[in-house]
Amino acid sequence: MTFKKLSYFFVWFTISTFFSCTQEEKGILVNNISEFNQAVPNLKPGDNLILADGKWENVELKLIAKGTAEAPIIMRAQTPGKVIISGQSNLRISGEYIVASDLVFKDGFTPTSEVIALRTSKEALANHTRITNCVIDGFNNPERFDADTWVSIYGKNNQFDHNTLINKGNQGVTFAIKMNTEASQENGHIVEYNYFGPRQVLGSNGGETVRIGTSHYSRKYSNSIVRKNYFDRCNGEHEIISNKSCGNEFRDNVFFESQGTLTMRHGHHTLVENNYFLGNRKPNTGGIRIINEYQTVKNNYMAGLTGYRFRGALVIMNGVPNSPINRYNQVVDSKMEGNIVVDSDYIQLCAGSDEERSAVPVGTTFKDNIIMGKTNLTPFTIYDDVSGIEFSGNIMNEEATLPLPEGFTKVEFSLSRNENGLRVPSQPLIEKAGFESIKLPVSKDETGANYYPKNDITTTFGSGKMVQVAPGENTIIEALETSQPGDVLELENGGEYLLTKYAFVNHTITIRAKEGSKALIKSEKSSFFKIENGGALLLDNILVDGAESPDQAGNNVISTSKYSMNQNYALVVKNCEVKDLDKNHTFDFLKIYKNTFADSIQIINSNFKNVTGSILILDTEVEDLGIYNVENVAILDSKFEDVQGSIANIYRGGTDESTFGPITSVKGVEITNSGKGKRNKIGAVLRFHGVQTLIIDSVQISDSKGVDLFMTNGEPITKVSNVTFTNSAGLKTNGEPYDSENIVVNNK
Ligand code: CA
Repeated sequence: MTFKKLSYFFVWFTISTFFSCTQEEKGILVNNISEFNQAVPNLKPGDNLILADGKWENVELKLIAKGTAEAPIIMRAQTPGKVIISGQSNLRISGEYIVASDLVFKDGFTPTSEVIALRTSKEALANHTRITNCVIDGFNNPERFDADTWVSIYGKNNQFDHNTLINKGNQGVTFAIKMNTEASQENGHIVEYNYFGPRQVLGSNGGETVRIGTSHYSRKYSNSIVRKNYFDRCNGEHEIISNKSCGNEFRDNVFFESQGTLTMRHGHHTLVENNYFLGNRKPNTGGIRIINEYQTVKNNYMAGLTGYRFRGALVIMNGVPNSPINRYNQVVDSKMEGNIVVDSDYIQLCAGSDEERSAVPVGTTFKDNIIMGKTNLTPFTIYDDVSGIEFSGNIMNEEATLPLPEGFTKVEFSLSRNENGLRVPSQPLIEKAGFESIKLPVSKDETGANYYPKNDITTTFGSGKMVQVAPGENTIIEALETSQPGDVLELENGGEYLLTKYAFVNHTITIRAKEGSKALIKSEKSSFFKIENGGALLLDNILVDGAESPDQAGNNVISTSKYSMNQNYALVVKNCEVKDLDKNHTFDFLKIYKNTFADSIQIINSNFKNVTGSILILDTEVEDLGIYNVENVAILDSKFEDVQGSIANIYRGGTDESTFGPITSVKGVEITNSGKGKRNKIGAVLRFHGVQTLIIDSVQISDSKGVDLFMTNGEPITKVSNVTFTNSAGLKTNGEPYDSENIVVNNK
């Protein structure tokens, strides 16, 4: 059986579905799980097992069957996209020459650790089997860190094509090729024309979109081909693809605005060719990272990538001498050749060099690469000895700084947009790099299940309708209950709004008063707003007053769900005034719970006065597993006065290197008489532990506790400038008073 035959078969099959009456007459229609279970043992080569249109809820479909190369067994939906598998459900297949197609998994999650698995037991695997035209959409375990894999391919010679996998929210690889027994090695799987749609930032390791193998079996060959797939905003973690086995090919894929890189994490003899990485200057967008031996990276195109360190456009890592199988193999005899890198910021050689990773690349070439751009004129960072890399024929534009005296030539800057909408250097340079033309090897439309939309999954603030909300009791809650995602609830200037119940925020909502006097909100409950799973809240021009809050400890203005949230939330507070959060002790502004994650928390141009608790405490992930609570935090142009707790406490523990955040800015901030309450256990007004990018600028701290920085792993970027401490504790890093030329502290 060859894949050509399978493809031929599929063409026939697709055409024949247009004549669905005759098709159904030949097929075996099953209406529910018990009919399915009765039909499966009797399936013969050439049979068509047809799942009736409708909702299949709480079904564990187990298909054990044996087709032939000429007459595969087909399991499909009566109408593509009209069979919805929901609830606690999954699909397992073993046998051979089976095609499963047209199924949609949504509104549920798998009770096991896989949604689709090409095995029915550890021994019973599927070979020569194809999954096509299927969808898994948001099929997420409600427990964010209850990990599962959406698709696990076992066995040999299987094909996964034209599927749509979007919106994975919980931990676990989206698509994995497993190699845990010999029967799943040297497998020759083909993964093509799939749409790997948006995957939110996980805030932990375990958010890979594709993984082939694991470190344990990484010196075995998989020989898989991953081609013509479209990766759209796959932002789970810094490995979009984690290659962990030998002999794989990645070609003709498109990576659109995806954070992270195609990483050759383990395994040798990988070919990475003609992939297109389009960053559009989005944060943390990266390219290709080489680790291990005999890797070939050639004729790839990267544009607008901003990622640095392990997320650079091109990265060659240092290894660990005699590396254990799960650490970093030295880079040996590898090639990075003929790649075109435009408008991208970082190329990193000997990345990760440290005491442990001291084995520099050897026998490796870096040649005929075209690196052109003005976004960063010194794009190369060389962390260690590069004498084991041969440089030749590389081109950079004349404004840039060459990283080395040999192997690079300067030419005139020549980027322009070509007929395919891509930024390209001049044609002679394109040809010099070994390309004929610069054109996406696959379009978004060519990928994924043909019946399923590729709509955006996120709503932005203000994208819905405007709803006028009259002052009074619970009018905000009534408006929230009938609101749609993106709606703006507009309050009256100077109006008074009382909440006698929790205001649940279940989707993206803006609550604002027009420019002018603020609208006043009070609450009689222990929280004003509760951001539930799927929620996001923007408050604008609001006065929040704790005067009606209950006389009990531990109130807050905004809290997350108490339960695990598998969808990231966002919170923006701008032009607001928050005062008298002082009914009893520990009245916080924001209270978050474990297993929740914010894409973004912003406080802009707002004032806080007289608070018995803290403003932003983001420290619930205390196990030091590299999990944290927030990706981006910005506190800008705001004042804090008489806050007994801390203004911000952000914690990311552990030494995991697979995430980007937290990324934090504190600028234009005044802190007065704060942090001195006896319940402020951290003893600081600002405390940042393991924050990966931290900018503190123009901050005045008076009569307050100080600032504590704990810089842990991952070469954090920390810039502190124009900080004035008056009658306050100063700035400490890792417990010591700060003393560095890179950081300016004006301590009066
Ligand atoms: Ca990872």
